Amino acid sequence: MSNESLANLLKEERRFAPPAELAAAANVTAAAYAQASEDRLAFWAEQARRLDWATEPTETLDWSNPPFAKWFADGTLNVAHNCVDRHVEAGNGDRVAIHFEGEPGDSRAITYAQLKDEVSRAANALLELGVTKGDRVAVYLPMIPEAVVAMLACARIGATHSVVFGGFSADAVASRIQDADAKLVITADGGYRRGKATALKPAIDEALTKCPQVEHVLVVRRTGQDTAFTEGRDVWWHDIVERQSAEHTAEAHDAEHPLFILYTSGTTGKPKGILHTTGGYLTQAAWTHHAVFDLKPETDVYWCTADIGWVTGHSYIVYGPLANGATQVIYEGTPDTPHQGRFWEIVQKYGVTILYTAPTAIRTFMKWGDDIPAKFDLSSLRVLGSVGEPINPEAWVWYREHIGAGKAPIVDTWWQTETGAMMISPLPGVTTTKPGSAQRALPGIAATVVDDEAREVPDGAGGYLVLTEPWPSMLRTIWGDDQRYIDTYWSRFEGRYFAGDGAKKDEDGDIWLLGRVDDVMLVSGHNISTTEVESALVGHPAVAESAVVGATDATTGQAIVAFVILRGTATDSPELVEELRAHVGRTLGPIAKPKQVKVVGELPKTRSGKIMRRLLRDIAEGREVGDTTTLADSNVMNLIQSQLPAQG
Ligand code: ATP
Ligand code: MG
Repeated sequence: MSNESLANLLKEERRFAPPAELAAAANVTAAAYAQASEDRLAFWAEQARRLDWATEPTETLDWSNPPFAKWFADGTLNVAHNCVDRHVEAGNGDRVAIHFEGEPGDSRAITYAQLKDEVSRAANALLELGVTKGDRVAVYLPMIPEAVVAMLACARIGATHSVVFGGFSADAVASRIQDADAKLVITADGGYRRGKATALKPAIDEALTKCPQVEHVLVVRRTGQDTAFTEGRDVWWHDIVERQSAEHTAEAHDAEHPLFILYTSGTTGKPKGILHTTGGYLTQAAWTHHAVFDLKPETDVYWCTADIGWVTGHSYIVYGPLANGATQVIYEGTPDTPHQGRFWEIVQKYGVTILYTAPTAIRTFMKWGDDIPAKFDLSSLRVLGSVGEPINPEAWVWYREHIGAGKAPIVDTWWQTETGAMMISPLPGVTTTKPGSAQRALPGIAATVVDDEAREVPDGAGGYLVLTEPWPSMLRTIWGDDQRYIDTYWSRFEGRYFAGDGAKKDEDGDIWLLGRVDDVMLVSGHNISTTEVESALVGHPAVAESAVVGATDATTGQAIVAFVILRGTATDSPELVEELRAHVGRTLGPIAKPKQVKVVGELPKTRSGKIMRRLLRDIAEGREVGDTTTLADSNVMNLIQSQLPAQG
């Protein structure tokens, strides 16, 4: 990427100092950066000691065979013991671990002591079903407490789980079960979404026609809907789990024992089975959750709105928060059921203090209107997190103003399925935040931005985001495909992990994520990031959401084509389209002015809510639309095409 990249034209001058009160009592202070830069491995060895080890590790990192890392390799521990038992042993058994809120309005509070019993029973049930250490278990569940219990029960006995998002089709589930060679599937009759009971079990029945190795299906009864049962293969959760003993002695596993496989969201192509292991993963998930959210387990009520089918749910619903003894909310359903204030009603009901959500959700709330959150008491909120995509500065500021009462710090956390835990993020008691920037690598993490020749770019320039040192929660490989692991992540830049994302460093050296490098546009010899053109558009009062792509153009190489969703108050007109083009020109410079702006009703998104630009590029270039299997709503592409005038 050229250094004169227009990536640098967006000027965001707003700055927000950390609240004094939070800073004064923060879990982690600026000293952590100094300590970690002095001795990174000693820093991580110290964070590892926040966990309970059966055998304390004496080695920190073994990087003798890069890029295959081993962390804390001679240590042993049990993840479920760390997430549950040790809190009970420490006298916190009565603390609520999970406030479960079902979509229809049912709720359950589960204490750490109850969770311990339930996880132990489930572990005993898995053993009875013939699952042993090293086996793979597929989990295909709605957002109910049993999902957490199932994952912890696997971890407890050393079975490797592969959670598949409950919205995926039978084919998507089948390919993931086959790839991981799972022997048991844990599912439910159904779950509640958008006010109805949605069946899950039929997708498993269909998937299993292609997965003969699966011996049993363990089925949670959630909705009570009619469910077909295959005699001898299918078992009700309540039949087998409830009659088990609540005693189960957790055996210690090696720090490098495989904890889970998780497939990436598929935004850019075929999902990859990312393998995470035990000790390093839990160390970084727990420490980042403690540091970045400033979690105080005795007083905070934490809520991460992700689905456990994504890595955010793994690291920041299950492993990080529970390792830290947090009290958290788990919500089953959609944000607009039964009304568009549901999230804020939940914040008010439980007194949520820390909220972690995604830019796609924040932009949706903006579109729904400021008056909706204004009806609820959100004064308990003290830290707000964002993850999943670059957050547009306007959405960031809206989040702070309308959800955070103009004072809660926002932590924009950059990380990936592959990194296992947060990598680049502000610290809420330390960082003076900048809307739209993830800012700097966390203590103990080494990240930078390089050019095509792998040279570090100077402050003020853009390029490729790379990680220059191994980190505890890094993926260990792609399941069953070491070569693909090397080729995908470690081959573009010698000795460095290439994340696939573009980024720039500002004059202070802070990092701004610019989206996937595959999405960067080359217009008349200039690199322009889709993220910045999108942020400029979202900065216009008429625009709720936008997605920008570069379409092949005979004169300029690529031409910028913008798809926009308008806010409720705006209407589509040729004047508005002109105004939006001019607005981008004014904000970023004339070269970033979109050649076309197309007003649409929806944008194609993955099931984790990320925009799939490659499909829009197909439309902009008049091609047949590519693989849509990871799309949340397969109808969206037809809808978008029908809303656009025929291509010339
Ligand atoms: P696939 O790798 O299959 O295309 P995916 O990359 O969408 O799917 P994830 O691992 O869920 O799968 O997402 C990680 C990506 O999400 C990052 O590489 C980055 O592009 C984006 N991302 C996550 N958090 C942030 C953030 N705070 N700022 C900017 N981008 C982010
Ligand atoms: Mg990715």
